[in-house]
Amino acid sequence: MKKIRQPIIAVLGHVDHGKTTMLDRIRNTRVAEKEAGGITQHIGATEVPIEVVKQLAGPLLSLWKGEIKLPGLLFIDTPGHEAFTSLRARGGSLADLAILVVDINEGFQPQTIESIEILRKYRTPFVVAANKIDRIKGWKIVENEPFLVNIKKQDQRAVQELETKLWELIGKFYELGFQANRFDRVQDFRRELAIIPVSAKYGIGLPELLVLIAGLAQKYLEEKLKIEVEGPARGTILEVREEVGFGTTIDVIIYDGTLRKDDIIVVGGKDKAIVTKIRALLKPKPLDEIRDPRYRFDQVEEVSAAAGIKIAAPNLEEALAGSPVIAARTEEEIERAKREILEQIKSVIISTDKVGVIVKADTIGSLEALSKELQEKNIPIRKADVGNISKTDVMEALSVKEEEPLYGVVIGFNVKVNEDAEEVAKAKKIPIFVGNVIYKIIEDYEAWVKAEEE
Ligand code: GDP
Ligand code: MG
Repeated sequence: MKKIRQPIIAVLGHVDHGKTTMLDRIRNTRVAEKEAGGITQHIGATEVPIEVVKQLAGPLLSLWKGEIKLPGLLFIDTPGHEAFTSLRARGGSLADLAILVVDINEGFQPQTIESIEILRKYRTPFVVAANKIDRIKGWKIVENEPFLVNIKKQDQRAVQELETKLWELIGKFYELGFQANRFDRVQDFRRELAIIPVSAKYGIGLPELLVLIAGLAQKYLEEKLKIEVEGPARGTILEVREEVGFGTTIDVIIYDGTLRKDDIIVVGGKDKAIVTKIRALLKPKPLDEIRDPRYRFDQVEEVSAAAGIKIAAPNLEEALAGSPVIAARTEEEIERAKREILEQIKSVIISTDKVGVIVKADTIGSLEALSKELQEKNIPIRKADVGNISKTDVMEALSVKEEEPLYGVVIGFNVKVNEDAEEVAKAKKIPIFVGNVIYKIIEDYEAWVKAEEE
């Protein structure tokens, strides 16, 4: 049976621009409080049912002609995924849609630009939340109300200041090749980027934001969101973690099919595909029902896309964040899933004796993104792997340095440098370039190369 699933939505943008505040605010809308069973917490995600969107939206729904048939919206929670690069599915982005949060008072920052580049690369449709409009001088806050209600209450000066800041943003988008406009001035949502002025802190403009996201998904993604619900599940690992009483578990976003408790799953490991049998499917208990933190989860029999779920199973210690999870019910399906996963791992985890740089990243998705960027700049890679920077990595770089000093470096994205690695690097003068903005790390490396050449 086919059904339309919830679109998966990522919230991204520069640090401190308000991503977490926005998700928290969405979770705690008045509607959610009133309606029992309103907004539900998943593992790694938050689900807003379409009824809540409709209630929040009220007359705004007329922005979209036609009915919204989506069951709701599934927001991926941001902690640890602010870089977003790790969220991949079938070679594309796990997110069907994204909200790019930009602090309207600070404008574009490095992670804003990085986010836009990634969205562009994976052709992920997105809207822009121009956040913190409550900070505009003289802004009169009308809490929890649409932007269009707020704007009517402002005096000329505040409106003017908002317009000026919006124009600055629109100009920046233009420089990057995007036509952007305030959402209520957009003529064609396919060609223009909609900017919604919001205050995550005071809930201003969130009704419009939710309506626009729902409308865009309905209008342009309906085909993509149609899935065979009963089919074997597919998902992406957000996180691998220890859980008291369950051992190593994986937090997964399921974007296709149904995962059942007695399914076999195949997941990506460091240099292999791990085949394992599910022990438990876990979802978070409602907060008010948690009496003992050791029993934070409820067990479920099955879960259908789109959803966030924690999977407990044996042998997950070496599972890789960012890699696929494929459910399989027959030997043939298991073999096929193994081949697919191995192929993907092999294309990303590189191990050669070439003269080239050593690359490390936190997830398989971000490793792929970083490696791709380096390759596009003709920087050769000797080794690319997931994990923190170890002494071994530095020793490899040292052996490269003997042949080509400019490639004798370690480049890392969202990873830590182990203490012993740091010591050796210092002693042997091996540069380490780390950070959480890919293009910045590469720029730092290139600047170093230039300085060395001179
Ligand atoms: P993140 O790093 O993008 O997740 O940003 P946070 O949500 O943690 O927000 C960073 C800071 O900005 C916090 O102190 C928030 O309270 C504040 N903040 C977020 N949204 C708003 C807003 O709309 N207005 C104001 N005045 N402050 C905000
Ligand atoms: Mg945050």
